[in-house]
Formats: sequence, structure tokens, C-alpha cells
Amino acid sequence: MDLQTKALHAGYEKDSQGTMAVPIYQTTAYEFRDVEHAANLFSLKELGNIYTRLNNPTTEVFEKRFAELEDGEAAIATASGMSAIFYAIANVAEAGDNIVCAKQLYGGSLTLSVHTLKRFGIEARFFDVHNPDAINELVDEKTKVIFFESLTNPSIDVADIDAIVAIANKHNILTVVDNTVATPVLCRPLTRGVDVTVHSASKYTTGQGLAIGGILVERKGLIKKLKNNPRYTHFNEPDQSYHGLIYTEVGLPPFTLRARLSLLRDLGAVVAPFNSWLFIQGIETFALRMKEHSKNALALAEFLESHPKIKKVNYPGLKSNLNYKNAQKYFEDGACSGLLSFEVENLEIATKIVNATKLYSLVVNIGDSKSIITHPASTTHQQLSDEELMACGVPAGLIRISCGLESSKDLIDDMKKALETCTSL
Ligand code: PLP
Repeated sequence: MDLQTKALHAGYEKDSQGTMAVPIYQTTAYEFRDVEHAANLFSLKELGNIYTRLNNPTTEVFEKRFAELEDGEAAIATASGMSAIFYAIANVAEAGDNIVCAKQLYGGSLTLSVHTLKRFGIEARFFDVHNPDAINELVDEKTKVIFFESLTNPSIDVADIDAIVAIANKHNILTVVDNTVATPVLCRPLTRGVDVTVHSASKYTTGQGLAIGGILVERKGLIKKLKNNPRYTHFNEPDQSYHGLIYTEVGLPPFTLRARLSLLRDLGAVVAPFNSWLFIQGIETFALRMKEHSKNALALAEFLESHPKIKKVNYPGLKSNLNYKNAQKYFEDGACSGLLSFEVENLEIATKIVNATKLYSLVVNIGDSKSIITHPASTTHQQLSDEELMACGVPAGLIRISCGLESSKDLIDDMKKALETCTSL
């Protein structure tokens, strides 16, 4: 089935009411038929609903549908993109372990890796996404995950997925890819051998800036990589917190199973059923929207590139861009999503431009149907030092645009006027 068709139908079987729209199961808990039924559910002899922190029928449709879009085996929805990323790492790493991350990461993922995980005793080591070979020098027997973004935010680079997967597989280490910006519409890393994808559903999945949520998807056949792999003992030894369950011996996708039974149970960053329902609505138009976002972003990038006062434009759809080749290789029809950035001389000029635009809202978000302008150095990346900013490709004069679904002519006109009014340019 094509992605557009899956986006409308996958994971939902109509109930006895024949409801066309997926119902919102707004409930905390579910009644068991009797004690035996309850016991069977807890011991996984039967699968079913227990408590909405663990599972919910509306969320299950969202999870199944998203897993299909990614060509994955199973998914687990979370309260936010950040919790999906934390779960992907915490599912395999513990104190004394390390993870190897691309330098070019979303600001929240960077602070998580550099600061928060450190407090849990997990070390983050960094490689440049343009130099995957460096991973070979960084990994050791304690490395649990290689983590990178398929299309990076905000530096807008395109990872060489095949090269990173080949290195990870050589060392038998899991790869986790944040596919938020590329989306499964444009790029499906699991089909190229990536083990787990994570998403902020708060972006293009909802598509209209309606809700916070996240999702983590497991590759088909991941069990083979986990089974008897000495790096991943938690998947091969009895879990004392779940009466001795061995995750690779249950016959269910082990990565999402462990994330649900252990992390959702104990940490509880669960998505609300209503938010799952909003994500399901967003997914219906996912494919259509991503084509339009990509078209608008390319048109704006071409305009900015031709403007004499712009130092640099970062958009992988531009032939001049360093990432063009990877974008053509990894993205459907070479469409590059709605995110672009451009650089002006300094912080002062950047501030003037951001303040002068009318159609672009000054918001720290991406993936909305309404266009957004952001100045990363003063907002999303404010917590980073100057060195950290440069290391992840975010100079002070960088402006990020999330191109919405307005007409490209209006978006270009508004930007043209904003550039003209910044007289010091
Ligand atoms: N990953 C990327 C690439 C993001 O851009 C963001 C947020 O901007 C996140 C993860 C975090 O997602 P959330 O805000 O849903 O926690």
C-alpha cells in the first residue's frame, strides 16, 4: 500500500458503530472481565488494555498507523518528542555507558546529551554528521546508541544514513534517528537499516501546531540484532521488575515492548488520547502537506540565495548546497521539507529582519501550517555556549524559517519587504 493510503486507513478497524473517524477513548482505565483476565493481561498471556499510562485504543491507532508510515514493526507514543528521545536512549543505556551523537542536533537533544544524561552517568561523544568515519574512533564496548537526525534542526544538514548504518552494524550497535523534520513522507530510515526512529509529533505530524507528543518506531526484525548481543544484556536477561520476563523471548517487538513495560510504566511520559486523535487527523494530510511545505521552502530558498545581502542560505534542495547529493539520495523526489535557514552579518541585523516580517510568526516551533521565523541563538539554543553554538552550526546571525502552507509568492514578498526595511543591511 502507498503511504497516502496507509495514512488514511492503517491501524483502524471500525467498531460496531461503523465510526468513520477514529473515536477518542478518553479514559484512565479499563474494566477486566474477571481476575483471570486481569492476571493474563499483566502476564502478557493475553494482550489488551490495562491503564492509559500503558496503552489506549486511540493511541494504539496512532502508533500502528505511524509504524506503517515508517515501514516499521511497532511504535510507542510518548508525551513529547523529548520523552521519545530519552526513552530510546534510556531503553538501552545506563550509568557507565556512552552514546555517540551527531554534533548537529536539536538544542533540546544537545542539552539532554551533554548535561542531563551526564547526571545519569551516561557520557555523550560527538561526531560531525559530515564525517561519519569519526564514529569508528568514538565507539567502545560501552557504546549503546549512535544517535543522529536525518535532516538536522536547525543546521539543516542531511545525514549519510547508509554510511552511518554500515559503521553501526560493523560494531553491532543500535542506530537511533530523529526523523522529525524529514518525516516518513520524505524519508524512511528504517528501510535503510536504521534500528529505531524517534519523532516529535508536535511538528509536521500534527501539522497545525496543535499538540505536543512524540513517537518511537522499531525496525522490522530488530530482534535479531538484540538477541544474544552482549551490548544489550537488558534484552537478554530476566527483568526482575517484570517477574523475570526476557524481552527477546516474548515473541513481540522487543524494543517498544521494553519501552512500554518498563519506561512508560515507571516514568509515565504518556501521550493524552486527545493528542493521539489530533495526530491521527494530521496524518491524513501528511503527504499532501509535506509536498507543499517543500515547494514553498525551495521557492523561498531560491529567492534568498539570489539576494545580494544574504551571506548564506541552508536548504538541501538548492543545487549549491553541501547536502544536495544526500537529499537527492535519501528524500522522496528530492523534496526537502519546510525548514531552511539563512545567515546575515550579525545578531543586530538578524534581530531587525525577524522583527520586520509580518507573515512569519516569531515562534519557537517548526512544522506548522503557518510560517514561523526563529532566531535560534537567542531562543532554542540560548543555553549553549558560543563554542557549542558554532560546533552545532548556529552562528548569531542565523535565522531559521519553517515554511508554512501560505502562497509562496506572499511568503517571498513579505521577506523581500522585511529585507528592504532593514536599512543597515
Ligand atoms: N527533535 C527535533 C528535531 C525537534 O525539532 C524537536 C523540537 O523542536 C524535538 C525533537 C523535541 O520535540 P518536543 O518539543 O515534542 O518535545
